[in-house]
Amino acid sequence: MHCPFCSETETKVIDSRLVADGHQVRRRRECLACSERYTTFEIAELVMPKIIKRDGSREPFNEDKMRNGLVRALEKRPVSVENVELVINKVKSALRATGEREISSEMLGNTIMEQLKDLDKVAYVRFASVYRSFEDIKEFGEEIARLGDEK
Ligand SMILES: [Zn+2]
Repeated sequence: MHCPFCSETETKVIDSRLVADGHQVRRRRECLACSERYTTFEIAELVMPKIIKRDGSREPFNEDKMRNGLVRALEKRPVSVENVELVINKVKSALRATGEREISSEMLGNTIMEQLKDLDKVAYVRFASVYRSFEDIKEFGEEIARLGDEK
């Protein structure tokens, strides 16, 4: 980056250390032109993509909403709270890994379903039935049958 004092582009890093429990890198820099020193911080960008809804409107990614949906799908299922949080983290990582600023609600749903499938088949079908809003009961039945085939 340019020196904030004289806008020179050549700077030298004179110190570099991990801060904030290793989640940030703090660098002391010295400008080669004016010799002023300044500090920069480097952090991972953890911004979640926005969700494009079916009607085309955008809304911020809502972790609580996703958690509520999962908890509802997992009602009375033998799945620990810890595993629910694990699914949430996996979904968030997958969404960030796309590198997209906006993703469709359909993709969000598919990502959640993928994780739920491994966790609990009943919860997966429950969630899928709501998220995909199955066209008819036949489709719903086919999904359940498909799960049975996979064993
Ligand atoms: Zn400078």
